[in-house]
Amino acid sequence: MNEIHRHHAGFVKPAASRGALSHRELREGLFWQEIPAWRDIDEATFLDFRWQGRNSITSMDKLLAAIEGIAPRDFVEDAGRGFHLAPMSVRVTPYLLSLIDWQNPYEDPIRRQFIPLASRVLPDHPELTLDSLHEQEDMPVPGLTHRYPDKALFLALDTCPVYCRFCTRSYAVGLDTDLVDKVHLNADTARWEQIFAYIATRPELEDIVLSGGDVYNLPARHIRLIGERLLGLPHIKRIRYATKGPAVMPQKLLTDREWRDALVHVVQLGRSLRKDVVLHTHFNHANEITWITREAIGQLLEAGVHVRNQTVLQRGVNDSVDSMQQLIKRLGTVGVHPYYVYVHDLVKGVEDLRTTAQTAIDIEKGVRGATAGFNTPTFVVDTLGGGGKRDVHSYDFYDRETGIAVYRSPNVDPDRLFFFFDPIADLSAEVRARWADPASREQMKADAATKARALGGLR
Ligand SMILES: *Cc1c(COP(=O)(O)O)cnc(C)c1O
Ligand code: SF4
Repeated sequence: MNEIHRHHAGFVKPAASRGALSHRELREGLFWQEIPAWRDIDEATFLDFRWQGRNSITSMDKLLAAIEGIAPRDFVEDAGRGFHLAPMSVRVTPYLLSLIDWQNPYEDPIRRQFIPLASRVLPDHPELTLDSLHEQEDMPVPGLTHRYPDKALFLALDTCPVYCRFCTRSYAVGLDTDLVDKVHLNADTARWEQIFAYIATRPELEDIVLSGGDVYNLPARHIRLIGERLLGLPHIKRIRYATKGPAVMPQKLLTDREWRDALVHVVQLGRSLRKDVVLHTHFNHANEITWITREAIGQLLEAGVHVRNQTVLQRGVNDSVDSMQQLIKRLGTVGVHPYYVYVHDLVKGVEDLRTTAQTAIDIEKGVRGATAGFNTPTFVVDTLGGGGKRDVHSYDFYDRETGIAVYRSPNVDPDRLFFFFDPIADLSAEVRARWADPASREQMKADAATKARALGGLR
């Protein structure tokens, strides 16, 4: 026996507690029947993607019809007023609605993401603009953001199967609301032709992110068309279809065979060309993952489709080590690879959901080591003004008191500094007063920039 074995001979790792395995306990059975309106909905009906679409909640009246009698009365009034104040249109699938704890909808992590409440609205951050990531400024043709050297973001359409309150693309996605007239990016093949033409002239592009809106809403023939056209360009080596669908309507993967087959076709075509075609999805909380998800993702895995996940860090949803660990481990249980956790961007009307950069740093520390390194997401912040994604830890300067973080992004622009701002509500009263005054606001930013330049590393 060598030294190492002898040393370890007496070591017994304590058995895991039952709680430590709770990520494997997915919701089973006919859970939606707990909603009075759906007491008689059988499994075949609930798994029908058309039924999910037709019965999605898009208005206060429909919400009321579904939760009448199970949600507290003050909640219903609060949501009614919230609908009018929100920059995003509301759309929630029956699947999600049935996963909300209606005994306590105020605190529920799924409710927080999809149903706005007037009582929770906080003033927007003074540095917020509607397109704070400057996606539109980096568009050489409508709907294609080319910011990084070898990859680009293709916005194929502007609708989604649900509308998330926190959507970064609220400048374009969804219907116009009382608050916002949007830029529209329709699923329009003539517009796509301009995008294909642009990509064809840029041999440095190897990687296309197909997003929107949400590619779940594209018909199967468009999934094929875009996939085949992109894979036909010799310099394109990687494409990703981005959709929140598996998290909000996994039923479609089980019952819309045409759509699923189109995706599998493009994945297989990619493989025959030695190119990488992957599905990127967007789960934010472990409660979104049920037996239906396990079946839906399981079938994709069997067909050889690789699925990665991007999460948005949100207050009261997943801003604790426990909830993030549960999400990440449950994603692993159903075979989805965690890729990114985004610090919540500055988005209109959802200041209540944002967290500080420090929150992301703390959660990362608590999560790393809990499971495989390749299933441990990178925590990133998408910096303001088009600096792109940065590892949240890689700031050149971060002042927790003023809530200003400063990043450099050499592959986007080696000379510029890019900012991220913590939520105002987390700062002291004295600092909040400084933010309220435009002159001292500019001074705080200028001071942070000076310090970042002095501290910055390699040029
Ligand atoms: C996120 C993003 C990409 C893809 O970046 P990865 O870090 O490779 O996931 C490409 N273009 C834009 C504009 C993006 O925002
Ligand atoms: S699914 Fe994606 S694009 Fe659509 S509203 Fe949600 S975050 Fe925005």
